[in-house]
Amino acid sequence: MNHSDFVSEPLASGKFLISGEWIAASETVPVRNPANVQEEVGRTAICSQGDVLAAIESAHAAFLGWRLTPLDDRIARIRAAATHLATVAVELTRLFVRENGKVWAEAEVDVRRSIEVLSGATACIEAWFKGEMYSGQQTVNALRRPRGVTAVISPWNSPVILTFKRVIPAILTGNTVVLKPPSYCPLTISEAMRILASHLPDGVINIVSGPGHRIGEVLCTHPAVKTISFIGSTETGKRILQWAAPTLKKVYLELGGNDPAILLPDVTLDESTLRALRTGILRAAGQVCSAIKRVYVHRSRFVELVEKMTKSFQEVKVGNGLLPEAMMGPLNNQAQYEFVKGLIEDAQRQNHEVIQVGQVLEPDRWDDGYFILPTIVTGVRNEDMLVQCEQFGPVIPIVPYDDLEEAIAFANGSEFGLRASIWGRDLTVARELSQRLEAGGVFFNQHSVFQDLKLDFPGVKWSGVGRETAWGNFELFCDTYGFAYMS
Ligand code: NAD
Repeated sequence: MNHSDFVSEPLASGKFLISGEWIAASETVPVRNPANVQEEVGRTAICSQGDVLAAIESAHAAFLGWRLTPLDDRIARIRAAATHLATVAVELTRLFVRENGKVWAEAEVDVRRSIEVLSGATACIEAWFKGEMYSGQQTVNALRRPRGVTAVISPWNSPVILTFKRVIPAILTGNTVVLKPPSYCPLTISEAMRILASHLPDGVINIVSGPGHRIGEVLCTHPAVKTISFIGSTETGKRILQWAAPTLKKVYLELGGNDPAILLPDVTLDESTLRALRTGILRAAGQVCSAIKRVYVHRSRFVELVEKMTKSFQEVKVGNGLLPEAMMGPLNNQAQYEFVKGLIEDAQRQNHEVIQVGQVLEPDRWDDGYFILPTIVTGVRNEDMLVQCEQFGPVIPIVPYDDLEEAIAFANGSEFGLRASIWGRDLTVARELSQRLEAGGVFFNQHSVFQDLKLDFPGVKWSGVGRETAWGNFELFCDTYGFAYMS
């Protein structure tokens, strides 16, 4: 199959959605293909604060009817949308590669799992919605009701799956939504939402895009918005929490990460371990909240690791994600590209050892996009910027440690606490060690995601507040109340 055969014009390009109407924005900015910045994939609508107010009013008005819609009807609509989405999964994947930069296989997984969210959530909501009964002299039924307008704000790195994981439980439980897609990668999620919204009453989903601060200020301060579900950087999360305080909204924040991987002295550095490490570091060119962003290895294995990881990185084919052989794509946007390049240049200026390897797939097109080769940096100290910041790119510092206490102190010595991983031979040792790691999830001999989409393990410290939004997490969007009567 030649993936480049699929050409689709994003219908939602340059538009925003209010009360079921797609409105062409008077101001738009181009969305460029990060593998070829000359190519305009579509346009982002730049909404005004007035547009955001109209979207909130639309969602508020729709809530009054949607919350009373029988659950069966809501389920049937979401299932119909899932079937519809499955018919355009290939077009969505192609659009996603073109606007995001992920390679085909990565984008395909995102789209497929997003559609699974719809079927998974509809399969288990009925039992959950009935609530629980507590019997005694008095019978108490714990019941749920939707809260109202939900603001969903999404990041550019994985906007499709991360948006579906929140929008679907929100609307299934009877809430309505105002979605703010990311400015850099708004098209695929808007297209997917266009299909979803076509199965719903007008106003249940509304979409407004544009500068985060401008849109966010109205969304996060408006009294009619009852719940905010935000995924993005820690800095923006803090701002949102401040805005939401005066009206005491329920706020869920899934934020940045700087995940450590600790390689124990007995780690087996065979091909499969190296491949798992490489995937944990380089998936989506490192632009994953829960990617390995720093590696700590016992000093006795340091030289071996650097040598073997360099060999492993050398195999990575870097290029346009539409090329079937591409294993790693470009960075998504210019700001991120400049930031990561700056980190590498800084490491070079400080005379750290910077190892850049990999295979360039189309050398004459390398400068057309935001490509960076897989990069290993050694000679850095734990307190250096490259180790302490969230680089969000294909550059990984490797730091040796002398004993386990030092490794734990290094790993926990960060404001972030999203995920961590332990690599070694003994599961029991790893499980014990996991108790001491300040992270919302710890992996053993892998560093990826929790594959069951209904599992929910929020980040700790500055990586999150509240619960993580898994598709089975309906209570995020509901209030629980007790209904009591004498038995
Ligand atoms: P970002 O915070 O810049 O933007 C996220 C979203 O918020 C975008 O839609 C943006 O337009 C909007 N926004 C920006 N300023 C805003 C404001 N003042 N008020 C309201 N909205 C605002 O983050 P990003 O660069 O798009 O995404 C990358 C970050 O997201 C990384 O830190 C990554 O680790 C994090 N992330 C976390 C998770 C997780 O599950 N913990 C998942 C994916 C990404």
